[in-house]
Amino acid sequence: MPAITAEATPPSASTEDYLKAIFSIISSGEEAASTNDLAELLDISAGSVSAMIKRLDEEGLVEHIPYRGVSLTAEGEQLALRVLRRHRLLELYLTEELGVPWNRVHEEAEILEHAISDDLIERIATKLGDPGFDPHGDPIPTRDLVLNTRRAEPLAELDAGTTAIFVRISDRNSEMLSYLSSLGIAIGDELRLIDREPFEGPCRVEAGGTVHTLGIPLAAAMQVQPLVG
Ligand SMILES: [Zn+2]
Repeated sequence: MPAITAEATPPSASTEDYLKAIFSIISSGEEAASTNDLAELLDISAGSVSAMIKRLDEEGLVEHIPYRGVSLTAEGEQLALRVLRRHRLLELYLTEELGVPWNRVHEEAEILEHAISDDLIERIATKLGDPGFDPHGDPIPTRDLVLNTRRAEPLAELDAGTTAIFVRISDRNSEMLSYLSSLGIAIGDELRLIDREPFEGPCRVEAGGTVHTLGIPLAAAMQVQPLVG
């Protein structure tokens, strides 16, 4: 695998976005990222996606899996993890140090992740104490680009009466994030699923002594770790 050095031409913002998108699709359990998945995730036409995939293939960053789509080569995966590290550290820096609400940091990080230097991002990592997770509970790849994921399950799928720690939610749905903020619910909080109405009805959830009624799409998006015992 070719070494990624500071002297090498940095990948373009669009290359980084594609690699990140492929990484995200494969991390969600897919064997490969199809052109259609990528077109949808990146909001780009399937024709443009095909052209870009061809280029990334020539650059040795992706490989084709016949009839399925593309996966990342080792070099492509390293680049994807590098941009994820920058993205997630930026999100945490913006919330922790600048007080930007957690529902607004994703958009900012999407832009800054392509521009920030390695030196500056490592200073941010040091300033934050080499954190393991971003404000949405997503793991931050280490300096050596190791991604330590943790097991979690949707709040909506807990057995009634189970208490769990809220550990993760997608950074992409800004409205869900600001709604949770308005309820005073944050990552790290202890939540108890009281019950769930039948036929896809809402969940009643206790958080900090208050009972909230959460719709299924929200309770399904909230990833939790049940407390044992
Ligand atoms: Zn984000």
